[in-house]
Amino acid sequence: MDNITNPHTGHFIGVDLGGTKIDSILVDQNNVPLDNVEMLTCPEEGKDAVIERIIASINKLAAGLPRGVDDVRAIGIGSPGPLNKEKGTVVDAPNLRWKDVPVTSVVRAATGLPVYLENDANVAALAENRMGAGRGTKNMVYVTVSTGIGSGLMLDGRLYSGTTGAAGELGHVTVVPDGPMCGCGNRGCLESLASGTAIARRAKEVASRAAGAGILAAAEGKIEKIDAVLVSCCAEAGDPMAIAILRNAFEYLGIAVANIVNLLNVEMVVIGGGVSNIGDVLFDTVRRAVDLRAFPFMAKDAKIVPAALGVDAGMLGAACYAMERWSEDYA
Ligand SMILES: [Zn+2]
Repeated sequence: MDNITNPHTGHFIGVDLGGTKIDSILVDQNNVPLDNVEMLTCPEEGKDAVIERIIASINKLAAGLPRGVDDVRAIGIGSPGPLNKEKGTVVDAPNLRWKDVPVTSVVRAATGLPVYLENDANVAALAENRMGAGRGTKNMVYVTVSTGIGSGLMLDGRLYSGTTGAAGELGHVTVVPDGPMCGCGNRGCLESLASGTAIARRAKEVASRAAGAGILAAAEGKIEKIDAVLVSCCAEAGDPMAIAILRNAFEYLGIAVANIVNLLNVEMVVIGGGVSNIGDVLFDTVRRAVDLRAFPFMAKDAKIVPAALGVDAGMLGAACYAMERWSEDYA
């Protein structure tokens, strides 16, 4: 079997397209990372400049292989969504200032390689499932909590992306009917109550009151300096208001995770993203909510664990996605 038809030879490139950085990785046929490249996205320079940097990253990685791009089988791109996977377009990504951008066809034309586009949280879920915290599980949900909240669903060992590829918008499930306004236009979405942005907003609201004096002092009196990391530091130092804000936010996260457990009977929920670094207060609060709210026979089987791959999950997952899709299409 030659290199063209044998899925067990050749290399794959994964691209994690973010609003700040483009992280790309070259892996071999066993998913072993060989090299990676980081570039700034600079979305203000326009979509063509960003796509050029994606192509430059791919070419730089391929240049290290004996036959260059001919030794690469396929490229995976993890992008903020929503996406149109049929057309290979990024439909709307405010962080990139992109609307209906045909990234797949442009990269395919420039490289001559198959290009597979998938949502960034979905490819991170795939990475955590295949090589991270969820290795060996068949039914697993990955939840990422940072400035926003996203999730990816691994069901029966496969990435589940829904009818049009948009499944997993856990950040926009309603947890409070008349809760805060969300960026999506709905009220009381999980993201509006439990994201890093929501934690910072709540802390800013209370900072001018007596109970928030500790948080304001930690921000040196500057309300605009308050963010989720500062709230977490205050909580660690024992500030009761900071602890209450985090517990409240993670209670809502726990409600959403309990709903996942009851709906999908998963064996594991992996929680990643910057806010998950807050650690015990998040995992303890979520665990308690699941034990309280989900059916006991499903709650007991559902492990709730921190993600293992950190910020690398996106590019590793994009490469892994390219490999699995390529194997389905060409092997
Ligand atoms: Zn929303």
